[in-house]
Amino acid sequence: MKIQSFYLNHPNTLRDHLAKSYRIEPPQAAPGQNTPPLVSPKGQLFAEHENLFTFDGECFRETLPNPEPFALFGVQSCDLTAISYQDQFFANDPYYQARRQQALLIGIDCLSPCQHGFCPSVNAGPGVKHETADLILHQLSTTSWLLLACNQKGLGALEGLSLNPANQPELNDRDDRIASCIEQFSDDSHLKQGITAINQNQVPEDLWQQLGLQCLSCSGCTSLCPTCSCYGTWEQQESNGDIRRQRFWDSCLYESFQREASQHNPTEKAGERVKRFWTHKFGDNFAKEFGRYGCVGCGRCEVTCPGVIGVHSVMKRISSDAQLDN
Ligand code: SF4
Ligand code: SF4
Repeated sequence: MKIQSFYLNHPNTLRDHLAKSYRIEPPQAAPGQNTPPLVSPKGQLFAEHENLFTFDGECFRETLPNPEPFALFGVQSCDLTAISYQDQFFANDPYYQARRQQALLIGIDCLSPCQHGFCPSVNAGPGVKHETADLILHQLSTTSWLLLACNQKGLGALEGLSLNPANQPELNDRDDRIASCIEQFSDDSHLKQGITAINQNQVPEDLWQQLGLQCLSCSGCTSLCPTCSCYGTWEQQESNGDIRRQRFWDSCLYESFQREASQHNPTEKAGERVKRFWTHKFGDNFAKEFGRYGCVGCGRCEVTCPGVIGVHSVMKRISSDAQLDN
């Protein structure tokens, strides 16, 4: 479908309209804010804890979620890119898909860089990519917004809302503002050099071990990272004797993440776990599989890591210590 564009006086007009048919998340958004919230919408689709099935001794009963339609309102481009990444990872996961099919995605263009973000360096923003959202909000002024419907789902959600079609000059302005925002991002040479070093295997092993010493295995990074998708499962016996299997977010930074029943652990050293995390985020092999890097440049790991080994800290250390071929 060709993108359709309209004028909107304020995002609340859209919010009020959608609230008639959708549960709105978050309940009190702040459209126009330019920093992604500390907690991404990941958990709305990939639940932090959920039941998978129960077993009563004779039958297995799948416990699929059955959510009402909901709208993720005012999601920044980095997080929408992460959802599109997770859509691939969970393409055949019925629990994720049961939520995803009920979700309407309303993106919002960022018009100035956020503190730790680097979305342009990893092709994840700051303008919302049309293929990652159903609707896009773009602020033109304090009293005027553009509203873009990217697909039939988005257009259908606008039914009953009286809107005037937007003109080409404002659409051109959107492109210009996004281009101007990209120019305002800080120098990203440490990220580029770090990515090259990781893929050329030029990061000294002892640097990974030094970085590993700083990891507290708190899982702050993996919990907040919108693209992290590792999970574990466990079984619990109910009071009536039924067995319930649940899954929960796991973290590749935990010492026990890969420990086997024999106690063999392929990533026993923290440095190996830190190396694997960053190789998954920036490895070319993963980019080939998913069509992009596993990092969307939100900067949350930099904000949260108590060991000061978030993305900028790590990539600066790598770019200064690695011996690059060119
Ligand atoms: S946030 Fe930092 S300390 Fe915590 S698990 Fe991640 S890398 Fe380790
Ligand atoms: S690795 Fe860090 S910057 Fe990249 S998407 Fe995850 S939390 Fe955001």
